[in-house]
Amino acid sequence: MRTEVRILVVEDEPALADTLRYNLEREGFAVTVAPDGRRGLERFREERPSLVILDLMLPEVPGLDVCRLIRAESNVPIIILTAKDSEADKVAGLELGADDYVTKPFSVRELVSRVRATLRRARPPEPAPGGEAEEVLEVGPVRMDLARHEVRVRGEPVDLPPKEFELLEALLRRPGRLLTRERLIDEVWGPDYFGDTRTLDVHVKRLRRKIEEDPHHPAHLVTVRGLGYKFVG
Ligand code: CA
Repeated sequence: MRTEVRILVVEDEPALADTLRYNLEREGFAVTVAPDGRRGLERFREERPSLVILDLMLPEVPGLDVCRLIRAESNVPIIILTAKDSEADKVAGLELGADDYVTKPFSVRELVSRVRATLRRARPPEPAPGGEAEEVLEVGPVRMDLARHEVRVRGEPVDLPPKEFELLEALLRRPGRLLTRERLIDEVWGPDYFGDTRTLDVHVKRLRRKIEEDPHHPAHLVTVRGLGYKFVG
């Protein structure tokens, strides 16, 4: 039995939307296209897709607002499409909770492989087939239950979108040890990631807001200047 994996494409350029639909359907995904931000949100709420591809330059409701509104109600993976010259939009999108971005013009093949990679990592764990050991990572104020896909900070549950979860997992697996930026990007976004390291920094910033008592003076998710990050208890 095969479960349908639905992808919502919010894109107002018909030619690009068609190309994405064609290529994603060819890969076996079910595809819904919405031509503006308002209908994008409607479709999202009706269909609860497994992943959202979201253009930021949209009529009706701007892409950044769509991103923020979707993230406020769901941890669905979001890949944003940004124009080449809009560095600020890209960073804003990541700060609002997007998992990844692709800069226009892009190769559809690359986008499809990002979709696959993102879905592979975001897939919720299979229900344990009886008696499987539960894996829990606990460092300092953070407790991550991998089987349940749950994170608590100082006992309070926190919601993490897929990339934040994976990044935190990578750090918690090696407490106190330096993880270079390259290594973290490799582990969380994949070895063929072609974005820049800004993506990593923005995700670190988002995690700090959820973990640190004072995000401006992090005590746990600390920067190792010029090299990377480490997580200390
Ligand atoms: Ca557009």
